[in-house]
Amino acid sequence: MGEQRLGDIIDDYCVKCRRITNHSIVSLINSEAAKVRCRTCYHDHDYRHEQAPPSKKELKKAEAEAAMAAGNGSASAANPALKAKADTSGENA
Ligand SMILES: [Zn+2]
Repeated sequence: MGEQRLGDIIDDYCVKCRRITNHSIVSLINSEAAKVRCRTCYHDHDYRHEQAPPSKKELKKAEAEAAMAAGNGSASAANPALKAKADTSGENA
């Protein structure tokens, strides 16, 4: 049914046109579009399933959120335990 062929015209996001445009399939993997060519500017790129890449603004926001999630409460408890362990080897006999 949904099998794609080389040369088929499909919608995809073109980073050069910065919008969804018609693309023709130029390469297939497992009968799915792998590479496509924009019919407007003839730019070849990987098929991106009509997803626009995240903008720089969105990337920054995601980064900040990840940093906040990672920074909460994991850095303080490690040192005292390490020191106690190092002192209990039996070097004095
Ligand atoms: Zn284009």
